[in-house]
This record gives sequence, structure tokens and C-alpha cells, in this order.
Amino acid sequence: NVRVRFAPSPTGPLHIGGVRTALFNYLFAKNNGGTFILRIEDTDQNRYVEGAEKYIVDALNWLNFPFDEGPEIGGNHGPYRQSERKEIYKKHIDTLIANGNAYYAFDTSEKLDFHRKDHEAKGKTFIYNWHNRLKLDNSLSLDADEVKKRIDSGEKYVIRFKSPENETLLLNDIIRGEITIDTNVLDDKILFKSDGMPTYHLANIVDDHLMEISHVIRGEEWLPSMALHILLYRAFGWDAPEFAHLPLILKPEGKGKLSKRDGDKLGFPVFPLEWRNNGDVSRGYKEDGYFPEAVVNMLALLGWNEGSGSEKEIYSLEELINSFSLKHVSKAGAKFNPDKTKWFNQQYLQLKNDDELADLFSLHILAMNSNPILMESFKKTAKHLEDKNYIKQVVSLIKERATFVSDLLSLGSFFFIAPTSYDDKAKKQWKEGTPELMNELVSVLSPIQDFTSNNIETIVKEWITNKEIGFGKVMQPLRLSLVGAMQGPHIFDIMNLIGKEDTIERIQRAIK
Ligand code: GLU
Repeated sequence: NVRVRFAPSPTGPLHIGGVRTALFNYLFAKNNGGTFILRIEDTDQNRYVEGAEKYIVDALNWLNFPFDEGPEIGGNHGPYRQSERKEIYKKHIDTLIANGNAYYAFDTSEKLDFHRKDHEAKGKTFIYNWHNRLKLDNSLSLDADEVKKRIDSGEKYVIRFKSPENETLLLNDIIRGEITIDTNVLDDKILFKSDGMPTYHLANIVDDHLMEISHVIRGEEWLPSMALHILLYRAFGWDAPEFAHLPLILKPEGKGKLSKRDGDKLGFPVFPLEWRNNGDVSRGYKEDGYFPEAVVNMLALLGWNEGSGSEKEIYSLEELINSFSLKHVSKAGAKFNPDKTKWFNQQYLQLKNDDELADLFSLHILAMNSNPILMESFKKTAKHLEDKNYIKQVVSLIKERATFVSDLLSLGSFFFIAPTSYDDKAKKQWKEGTPELMNELVSVLSPIQDFTSNNIETIVKEWITNKEIGFGKVMQPLRLSLVGAMQGPHIFDIMNLIGKEDTIERIQRAIK
């Protein structure tokens, strides 16, 4: 029975590393017919950030990999916020004290600092474990009465794990294989504090056990904690789940871990949704116009591939679920590539049908209403903005060059407004005799009844051929008149769509 959890701490917005962890958990769960759980690890009140939990839930919903159990929606293993499980941790730390696997420590931070510096000065690292325990101020060096007195008098303490001496642990990670750890290098990590709150380590193990988590899938940064976690399971007398530590996501240039700040520095989002905090805005994929499917597809390939030399890159969520396996997750860091993310978006845009794209395009135009400056100039002169069928035809002519829905407007604005200025370089196409030629073209176009692309093309080309002049002499100024620049789709398609009246009007305006 596969049960996995995504266990973020609500300390800020979820960056793409976290999203990738959530995705791999989701894919693994669904591939195995299992359960995907969201658990909010909010025991560190100092790092708690208002709105972060909501952000996490909104992001998972936008990306369309919903959790089966979690805060608000509930489940049989709740509550799913650690701040609501305090008594559970208290009970469990008492168990570890009672069975000798944990102990009280009263050391002041000054004293710990002193020992750290003292060791450093001798070129050694201070490890709080059996090497040093007895020199310090803890229940292994004090008698039981003294310990009780101090606790009762309200003295501050922590509870530490008693890590074992001289053992070699053999750990197994699904992605990394076997790892051996000498317990002598382990610290007696803090499990519980006198404010009644557990640390991450204790809460995480207790919850994974009580929530019946079968596989812990998380970022590589937690690999160093794995030995402690295995020891904690042993101390409780529980079976440990299986572990899989996902590779790091690296900066585009490949050196170092991608950080939350890289997005702003390099001009691409590293967050699923926009995040606003004290006037700072971090860009989000959603607001930047990415499709969630494209983001999911990009993330899935950060560290995973189908194997057996597959070149396939475009995967629907369903295909990802069917082909996902932890066996094909690599150990090596995965380089994040913002251009590739754009490429995915472009691919997904092409996969949408014209109806769907027309709707998205209309929504985009509508959203511009909220920008009065943009709208004033555009809407005053624009036509067809509410004509769904017209918009659909525009979309079919220009979508192949679009990466984002917003590109449709920049690529196709001339379908809605006549050019108000003309590309300077292109204006060189405007030669002596051009105005006369354009006038004559108007008289060729005027009588055409059947203003379809093919028919206009046949008639215009016949006229040019009869005049025995180069096609460019007519076609280039014609394009400039209709589009304002030397780009855009097939010119006769444009004429057909904007219609005879507008075509003629635009030509006449250009001549003036
Ligand atoms: N709360 C931890 C985090 O924020 C969870 C680590 C884990 O999955 O064990 O990453």
C-alpha cells in the first residue's frame, strides 16, 4: 500500500525544487495506485510565513496534481498540520526519554559556542555526542534529582537524541543505492525544545510512522539526515519507510544549486505562482503566461527520464503517471533550462485547438481592460475584439509562431487595428511609382465579389503578370500597408480576414 507525503514548511512560496518534489511524490503514488498526502511542517514558529500554506495548496491545484489527504480536506491520519499535533510529539519524546534514547540538555548557547571555538582552534570539529557529552551540561552528566530540579524550576532545556557509539550503519536509498555511515560522526540532534515544540526530525519521523508513509521521497538536502532518521525509527522500535533522495536542481550554467533569487536575476520565474511580500514581487509561471501542463512536463524531466534511450519529451500528466519510476531518477543534479521551459510552452500552445486558443486569447484581451493606458489606444480603434469566430481565424493563422497566449496579440494586432505607423526599414520598399501602383491595385480589388484568399490571389497575380513587373514591387508595399511591417502570415489570408473594405482603406491610408 503506497502512501507518500509532500511535507513543505510554510516559510515562503514554494520554489520549483519543492514543486518537483511534490510532483515526483504524486507521480509515484499514482503510478502505484497509492495515496498522495500533503503535510504542513509548521513547528518552527520563527520561520512561519503568513499565506505560505495557502500558496502551496493553490500551486498544487493550479498544477493539477491534487493531494488525497491534507489540511482542510482531511483524511484518516490527521491532523495534517504539525502545529496541531503537539501532544502526539510530547508523548513520543517521553517514550524516547524513558527508553534511554533521548536525554535532557541544559547547555547555554555561550557554552556551546565556547566548545565549538575551542575545537576549531585545535583544528577539530565539535560534535555533541559521546565524545563530549560528559563534559557538557546534560542529564548524562548530572544526577537525576538535579535534572528534575532544573526542569521544575523552569530552566530552559532541549531534548537530544542519544546517538550510538562505534556503529557502522548501512543505509539504502532507492536512487543512490547503499550508503555507509559511521555513527561516530553524528551529532546528538535536538528533538524537542522546552517551548513544547518538537524539531523537524522528531515530528517528521513520528508523523511518517503514524501516517503510514511507505516511501519518503524528498530533496537531496535531506540525505545527511537519513542516518538520524533511521536511528530514530530503531529507537521507537518501528520499521522505517523506504527512502529516495531526489537530485538537486542546478543553475542554468550548471554550477551550484538553483536558488530562489536566481529567477529575478536571470529574468525567469522559479515559482509556480506570483508571490508578493512587503512590496516585493516574485514572478510566477502562471502570471507569466505558462500553461500548467508545460511546467509539469518541464519539471518531470528535471532528473527523470523514461530510460531505454527514449527521446520522448512531451508527456501528458497521464503518460507521466504511467511511465514514472524512481529507478529512472538520476543521482546527478539536473540543470534547469529556462529556454527549454519556453519551448515546452510553445509545444503545448500548438497542441491546443483553435477554439480553446481563441477563448484564451479573448480572455487575454479582456484582461487588458484592467490596463487603461494600453486599452485606450487599442480599443478605440480596434475591430472584431468580441467576434469569437474572427478571433479563431486569427489564431489559426498566427499560432505557429506563438509561445505564449500574449504573443497572439503582438503577432496579430494588425488583424484588429490598421497600422498607425510603418516600419522605417520597410518603408524603403516604397519606391517611385508605388503610390500609382497601389491606386491601380485598389481598382483591381474593388470589383472582386468573392473575396476569398485563393480568388484574390489568382486575380492579383494575374494582374501583376500582365503588367510584366516583379511581384515584389506590389507585394511588399501591399504588406506594409496592411500590416505596418514586413511580417505576418500569407498576405491574401490577411486580406480575406480583414475584408475588402478594410484592405482598401489601409492601402489608401498608406498612400496618403
Ligand atoms: N519540512 C521539510 C522541508 O521543508 C520536509 C523534508 C522531508 O520531506 O522530510 O523540506
